[in-house]
Amino acid sequence: MSIPYIKSKAAIVGTLGPSSSEEEKLRKLIDNGLDVVRLNMSHGNIEDHKERFELVRRVDETIPIIIDLSGPKIRIGEVKENFDLIKDDNIILTKENVVGNKEKLSISYNELIDLVDVKDTLFINDGIIELEVTEKFENELNCKVISGGPISSRKGLNAPGVPIGLFSPTKKDLEDIQNTINLEPDFYSVSFVRRKEDLIKVREQIANFTTERVPLISKIEHQDALDNIDEIINHSDGLMVARGDLGVELPPEDIPLIQEVLVKKSNDAGIPVIVATQMLESMVNSAKPTRAEASDVANAILQGADAVMLSAETATGNHPIEAVGMMERIIKKVEPRLFEKSIELQRYVNSIPDSIGRSAVSMAEALNADVIMAFTRSGGSSQSVAKFRPNQKIIAVTPLDKTSRRLRLQWGVNPLLLSRDFSDTDEMIFQGVNSAYEKGFVDKFDTAVLVAGSLLGLPTSTNLINYIKIDEIINSVGAEKRFIEKKNRKVNDV
Ligand code: PEP
Repeated sequence: MSIPYIKSKAAIVGTLGPSSSEEEKLRKLIDNGLDVVRLNMSHGNIEDHKERFELVRRVDETIPIIIDLSGPKIRIGEVKENFDLIKDDNIILTKENVVGNKEKLSISYNELIDLVDVKDTLFINDGIIELEVTEKFENELNCKVISGGPISSRKGLNAPGVPIGLFSPTKKDLEDIQNTINLEPDFYSVSFVRRKEDLIKVREQIANFTTERVPLISKIEHQDALDNIDEIINHSDGLMVARGDLGVELPPEDIPLIQEVLVKKSNDAGIPVIVATQMLESMVNSAKPTRAEASDVANAILQGADAVMLSAETATGNHPIEAVGMMERIIKKVEPRLFEKSIELQRYVNSIPDSIGRSAVSMAEALNADVIMAFTRSGGSSQSVAKFRPNQKIIAVTPLDKTSRRLRLQWGVNPLLLSRDFSDTDEMIFQGVNSAYEKGFVDKFDTAVLVAGSLLGLPTSTNLINYIKIDEIINSVGAEKRFIEKKNRKVNDV
């Protein structure tokens, strides 16, 4: 029996934009290894995003979509035409609503001018341009250019260390939730999270429109988020190491160790972590990455990232398909290294699902099982297994299409969607194993460790572990008969 193409275990998140928003291109991105799509609300209008959302669903409805909320990012205003700021130039930042030029730029948050002091440092355009404030007036700041670079409309402006009173979610974020919730996004990512209250507010807004719990990914890109990281992780369903803004808010040399800590903390908490930004940046213009970029992707995977992300490379770059293909090849090349004892990843265990996950992985190893099957409604059972990075393939069986899509962000998890729901764990296992066999996820003579939540009519998390031989289940007409009889008995009992 042919086993389906085995993808890399870590997922690839790709940002959709003008370079990747045609059907044919999107199909090629998916064929090359794209697992998850990100729509970045900081760029484009809501109609573009809706169109892109529908395009993804039309092309492949198994691909999960992250709607990335803009957050309170300060930006310069519109400029008449693009220009370069040169070292030692002077530039004015003003509260006036002007179309910018080489002398003067407006900004999206005028209060910044009150908060900043002479000698403070400001950055524009992802930190490329560095300014020093030389004079402060009521309505404007005179600044000297310390490092120059290109200026175009609405580039980001960062003021590290300045106590800015802007929090996530912004009015725009709340409107973007209202305008996109009916599309049924698989995740929202929340930019510039600084404390748990930001996430609570996002959840409240979602709850105004749906009873469904949409998972939230916290983008870590501010010192305050690092100071409050444990409470943020406790309120998040996933984390993104958003190195673009993080590397402007903090010195770039601080980023590698912060990344290591954030990946480790997410791994311990059992939530997926995405390492993002500039991973293959040179591929925006070149068909090949630099060696340093290849090593950056590899390092994230070896640290324990569940996913790596492409931004400009897929959104506006000249080689989006090559960038995804390259990322997939790098991941597949280094992943076997994860299974070598010398870099065995230690994981924190403090819950029943965690203990079951760890036991399932060690049982699979001890018994030389071929696969681990997790039967799950929320995705919790498969996450508990993925946390321990088994060598075996993880098959997550679920009757819920939304869960099935979201599972693609979990490390090494292959979702298997059942055609109907079950009220009985045994029956779900029986159907799931048969379906896995029919669809080629397992071979007839494979053995599997199973984990599940015993239903018993109660909402419960992972609490069951079992070992099976696939052929005993698929050949077991008697078992099927017993399940049907049991089900009929239950119906008659009612
Ligand atoms: C980042 O800053 O690294 C990031 C992912 O956010 P955005 O692309 O929205 O700026």
